[in-house]
Amino acid sequence: MKPIRHIVIVGGGTAGWMAAAALSRLREGNDLSITLIESEEIGTVGVGEATIPPFVEFNQLLGVDEREMMASCQATFKLGIQFVNWGKQGDSYIHPFGAYGYPIDGVGFQQHWHRARALGDARPIQVFNLETMAAYFGKFARTDDYRRDDLPPVNYAYHIDASRYARFLRGLAETRGVVRKEGRVADTALEGESGFVQSVTMQDGTVVEGDLFVDCSGFRGLLIEQALGTGYEDWRHYLPCDRAVALPCLREDGSPPAPFTRATAHSAGWQWCVPLQQRNGNGHVYCSEYMADDEALGILNGNLAGKPQADPNFLRFTTGRRKKFWNGNVVALGLAAGFMEPLESTSIHLINTGVNKLISLLSLDGITPVQEEAFNRLTTKEYLRIRDFLILHYNATERTDSDFWNHVRTMAVPDTLTEKIELFRLNGQIFREEDELFTETSWAAVMMGQGIAMEGHNPMAARIPADALRDQFNEIEKSVRYVVERMPAHHDYLARYCPAA
Ligand code: FAD
Repeated sequence: MKPIRHIVIVGGGTAGWMAAAALSRLREGNDLSITLIESEEIGTVGVGEATIPPFVEFNQLLGVDEREMMASCQATFKLGIQFVNWGKQGDSYIHPFGAYGYPIDGVGFQQHWHRARALGDARPIQVFNLETMAAYFGKFARTDDYRRDDLPPVNYAYHIDASRYARFLRGLAETRGVVRKEGRVADTALEGESGFVQSVTMQDGTVVEGDLFVDCSGFRGLLIEQALGTGYEDWRHYLPCDRAVALPCLREDGSPPAPFTRATAHSAGWQWCVPLQQRNGNGHVYCSEYMADDEALGILNGNLAGKPQADPNFLRFTTGRRKKFWNGNVVALGLAAGFMEPLESTSIHLINTGVNKLISLLSLDGITPVQEEAFNRLTTKEYLRIRDFLILHYNATERTDSDFWNHVRTMAVPDTLTEKIELFRLNGQIFREEDELFTETSWAAVMMGQGIAMEGHNPMAARIPADALRDQFNEIEKSVRYVVERMPAHHDYLARYCPAA
């Protein structure tokens, strides 16, 4: 085994700088150098602004000061995602970050809720969720000031300006000794026997050698694909959208930023609205088989929140994943590893978990096949679970108004997803498999939000006497209302806590 003394990161988008900032911590106490190569001329993908709660922890582990990061990235807080027009046109629901109530007697809250409905309690399940109610009222507070013992703290994430975030992390990584090299990588040299990447050569002739390479070069997958020919698994038969057009807009009307992302379905895809402190990130994800670029831009322009600040940025992608995320001495992160559309803001999360796994599996004594196998197995599972969850959004619909919706509503879906839906229909049971990212509440929110109804509930739910169940429900609803009433408006909280720098 060849010891690892030098790590080379190719690419300086969100993935490259997240990897650099996290790996830089390994320099303390170890003989390790880290170089990051990026090309301003090529630039970054320029989108990717909505995150999910584990990202908060990722930043804490990096030692990032939340206020400082949020102020410099024009960040806002995010409590979930509002889905509009998905199950039917005119429908709307929130997929919240926190849980609906809590399990009672080991039985999922949604099952007790189903029983309570059968007993005549007409309250919607949303009133038992803090994040949904705070989002509806435009409220937010991250501290425990208004905390009730029977409610967990607010679960939140951020909306961030992605290029500012990469710059912020660059500052952090460079302070911790990461060396940045500007310029294009023009060539890659492989070692004959092992097939490992030995070095990359930049356009100006500089040769950068490394023991471990982290490919963060974006969709092109410079090392993982172009140099190593790893192969790509195409998932467009399940998730057929393959284009996006992005358009950042200034919020001129002084309206406050909502503490949630909005995903509005259109006739062949959907539109995102990601509120930052001063502007909204807007974009339209669509399927080129059913919609032309100019039509997609027209729909986006017709539904913009704010005044465009830039020219439209058209992007093409193929949903899927690399056949191996770790191949030899190359680990791919971010868009170089694979891509699933940003419907549930999972891409930055997959960078986060990729970096975590890489650090956990790393030995500076060298690289062995067992690390590669573990990394690939764990990452594949993560991708598959997220993929099923995204497919659910398209497949669980009653929309018949376009060829696109007729296709996704009737397409074959993975057996794993079919099983999840059937079990939920039967008695409201949702199995969260092996560290799966999405919780019971996540699955329940999307299934119920898009018209999949529970037909029964687990018989264990009947063990709670009806009066006791009603009392518990009353308590949870009262606690949610108590906290939400006392929370400040989201924009007031931002103005006090982290006004944009
Ligand atoms: P890039 O940003 O493309 O960076 C690639 C880097 O490699 C750049 O620095 C580039 O200069 C460098 N590079 C490439 N080739 C060379 C070369 N030859 N020599 C030197 N340097 C090179 N994710 C979320 O979590 N939430 C979202 O809301 C979200 N929205 C999205 C919307 C769309 C339409 C798309 C397409 C993606 C979205 N994503 C989202 C995904 C998110 O944008 C990416 O996961 C994230 O930006 C990471 O990108 P990256 O760093 O892998 O690639």
